[in-house]
Amino acid sequence: MVELDQKQAPGVGQPLFAAVHVTRQRRGMVDLLCHVCGTPTTPQDRYIFPVASGGLVTLHDGSQQYGCNVPPIHHACTARALDACPHLSRLAERPLKCSADEGRLIHRTDVTPGLEALAGTLPAGLDVVFSCYRLYGPEFTRQVVSARDQWDQRARSRSRRNAAL
Ligand SMILES: [Zn+2]
Repeated sequence: MVELDQKQAPGVGQPLFAAVHVTRQRRGMVDLLCHVCGTPTTPQDRYIFPVASGGLVTLHDGSQQYGCNVPPIHHACTARALDACPHLSRLAERPLKCSADEGRLIHRTDVTPGLEALAGTLPAGLDVVFSCYRLYGPEFTRQVVSARDQWDQRARSRSRRNAAL
């Protein structure tokens, strides 16, 4: 498969928190590198943010499995992410420890939002990998759905408290 390769220049310029570097996104998903510090995560120290990251993917049989396109994070790095990421700090969500299920790596050849102009310069009919995600089995999917339900309940009780003030 043909992959996009974006120039790497760590420490140069200003970070763009709303955009993910395409090569680092893929490397992070393939090698389970931490989304914050870029070093490998281990099964004992691998977390995701279940509300902010990924979504449920409907399979051919109608069942749904959790798909995540954001690399995992070390527990120590989740605090830095919660503090520095404008999106996460608004959500006030808790990190979820990953299970032994590392998910199945899926390559995406549809154009990632923001890369439409670049995609228009590529030869027609060429399948190019723009991003990767991991598709998790039923057990970890249930954990993510449960974590999202708990977050919903906390958000509802927060808004009820705010309405009562
Ligand atoms: Zn880290």
